[in-house]
Amino acid sequence: MSDLMDQISAQLMQLQEQKLFRKRRVVDGPQGPLLTIDGKPTLAFSNNDYLGLANHPALIAAARDGLERFGVGAASSALISGHSSECEALEIALAGFVGMPRALHFSNGYMANMGVIPALVGPGDLVLSDRLNHACLIDGARLSGAEFRVYPHNDVAKVEQQLAKSTHPRKLIITDGVFSMDGDIAPLPELLALCEKYDAWLLVDDAHGFGVLGPQGRGSLAHFGLASWRVLYMGTLGKAAGVSGAFVAGDATLIEWLVQRARTYVFTTASPPMLASALLATLKLLETEDWRQQHLRQLVQQLHDGLATLPWQLLPSETAIQALVVGDNQLALDLMADLLAQGIWVPAIRPPTVPKGTARLRISLSAAHTTEQVDQLITALHAAAAKYFAGEDGKAPALQSKEKIEEAS
Ligand SMILES: *Cc1c(COP(=O)(O)O)cnc(C)c1O
Repeated sequence: MSDLMDQISAQLMQLQEQKLFRKRRVVDGPQGPLLTIDGKPTLAFSNNDYLGLANHPALIAAARDGLERFGVGAASSALISGHSSECEALEIALAGFVGMPRALHFSNGYMANMGVIPALVGPGDLVLSDRLNHACLIDGARLSGAEFRVYPHNDVAKVEQQLAKSTHPRKLIITDGVFSMDGDIAPLPELLALCEKYDAWLLVDDAHGFGVLGPQGRGSLAHFGLASWRVLYMGTLGKAAGVSGAFVAGDATLIEWLVQRARTYVFTTASPPMLASALLATLKLLETEDWRQQHLRQLVQQLHDGLATLPWQLLPSETAIQALVVGDNQLALDLMADLLAQGIWVPAIRPPTVPKGTARLRISLSAAHTTEQVDQLITALHAAAAKYFAGEDGKAPALQSKEKIEEAS
């Protein structure tokens, strides 16, 4: 075999040695708290279906109806003949729902960020990016050719330092609204104030806030009561919204510019209209029922109360994402296996998805979970912890372990 293939094989081996090799598991049937994974029934805390809508009958019926009226494929890009009346209606509804002048629908969140950032800034401009931002914000910023600077997580003072000394013609701050591996919320009011002071834009990636935070799940901007032409709001539609896709909302002129110049919008086939049909049903549910967000908040509280005495740190988070940081890659994998042996599926997240030394279990809560199911998880985690910390000469393992993690971070 060629040298090139030998190199790739060696790199794959290296991933295995470093415990960074990932294995896909095959899921049967629809998403929900009870998942059949590799043929084994589990209680799952693994997906981003935060409101339990991915298999909701109203969405399925709407998708079916859209399927009957529009067929399966959009068959062309939006600027040629793929922009359906269903997608037009969805964009109008989305803009209204998040309280912004206009919205543009993208195939998914990754493509939205890859398209939006290079449309706004280019070589000679400045992008300031939170250290824990999602990969697609980082990739979009790199693709733009703008100067790319990373600031420590949620460090508003560092952002101000950078803005104060910047002479770049255009400045853009990019941040997750809710951080995907920690579950905490970005300091959006402070970041927006800096944008106003230093004449910059703010792009908020609310993949984990849309549908979850704010009144009726209107997102992280609504959570803080923020509105400004300086903000571009990116929400994804495959997580809490239960379907697939993404949208960018903001000032009408900026959105028009994206229609003209966001390459991942212009040069891709439009999404199947039936997805827009399902999403219109999502928005109707969000506007009329907010018991899901309330129930989710109760589950978050229940989990924090239940895990308070665990020897690992559950990061502070009021969102559906709950990170139990254990530090070591192998320990995270062992814990994942322990839980799976107890019939519970919680994924271990390792570098490079999270910083080195902060491997964790990422517990995803959903309004579809019951309090009994969350209790089951709490009991299983305590059972697993007892195994690792049994009989350590009477010391308080909880404290030791938390201190270690703080030192490492
Ligand atoms: C999931 C995610 C994305 C990507 O969205 P997709 O629609 O799945 O492509 C973008 N940003 C963040 C923060 C995410 O968690």
